[in-house]
Amino acid sequence: MSVAALEELAACRRCARLAAYLDQLPPARGRGRAEYWNRPVAGFGDRQARIWILGLAPGAHGANRTGRPFTGDGAGDFMYPLLYQTGLASQPSATALGDGLALRDLYISNAVKCAPPGNKPAPAEFACCRPFLAMEQAKLNRLQVVVALGRGAYDSYLRLCREQGIIQRVADYPFAHGARYRLSNGLWLVACYHTSRYNVQTGRMTAVMFLELLEAVQALAAGAAVDEHSVEQPF
Ligand code: SF4
Repeated sequence: MSVAALEELAACRRCARLAAYLDQLPPARGRGRAEYWNRPVAGFGDRQARIWILGLAPGAHGANRTGRPFTGDGAGDFMYPLLYQTGLASQPSATALGDGLALRDLYISNAVKCAPPGNKPAPAEFACCRPFLAMEQAKLNRLQVVVALGRGAYDSYLRLCREQGIIQRVADYPFAHGARYRLSNGLWLVACYHTSRYNVQTGRMTAVMFLELLEAVQALAAGAAVDEHSVEQPF
């Protein structure tokens, strides 16, 4: 995003429910409210990235505390060691802004930029935040693959595509882990289960699954020949 867009994002309180939630969110035990970011969390990463990982929303006590997506929470603790293993991250941990983490060929953000109660944004909040998604995408001019973590982020990205005239119907792109679709603008959209602590603890998402998906995504980004019509085949 441009500096002006980042400033607009930082000051955004368009979703009254989310702004009120952040105004009164009690900190986790042993922490103070002063340690919390408690405002919209901007995406970060390589502006020349070919891969964009799109999560749902900042975790109340993770990204909403640290001010960077997937930083300081279980989802990030699962994801960053695997991003490091595939060369997409410079280090295996993400603890705080200024911890030295850099992303290579990768940009990470969330579909909704403010932490929602219960990790559940309302449909109107997804819609309200989509202009920021459009701004992010416009800045990623080498983008090849969008990896949406979980159905919420996936559907919101598809709705953005519909708003932009790239697709006609969201229902034509059903979500399944590993499903990939070549969109009419040339980008790949890849569906992935979220890396949430719940999904990891229940075995819905495993390190092997995520690594396999990342490797396949890197191949797509590099322009590997893929049957564009086998869109519902998992990796
Ligand atoms: S979720 Fe997005 S649109 Fe809503 S207040 Fe936060 S930054 Fe603004």
